[in-house]
Amino acid sequence: MKKYYEATEKFHKKNKMKGTNNEDMNFRLNLMTEELGELAQAVTRGYSREEIIEENVDLFNLIIGNLISMEISLSEFDAAFWKKHEKIMKREKKLVNGKYRVSDFRK
Ligand SMILES: [Mg+2]
Repeated sequence: MKKYYEATEKFHKKNKMKGTNNEDMNFRLNLMTEELGELAQAVTRGYSREEIIEENVDLFNLIIGNLISMEISLSEFDAAFWKKHEKIMKREKKLVNGKYRVSDFRK
């Protein structure tokens, strides 16, 4: 994860993103929506495995960029990741409307 974070940080610095719309979360959410749409298109239209991986990379880059934009350190993210992981590992898988889901079913 560290190398992805540092590479994305380098990308933000190279393009002088600090203080611009590039690090504005509303702008970034639009980019993520756009990339999610591209991933959906790749999956539903049967694009190649390579193209589907690329769309996942686009989303992953944006997620890491969100951390950088919001000045969330890698250690802060790491702690949040493992806290959530511990929580979801306790969840049970259930069949809901014919689809298996692993969720918090108390809500
Ligand atoms: Mg894309």
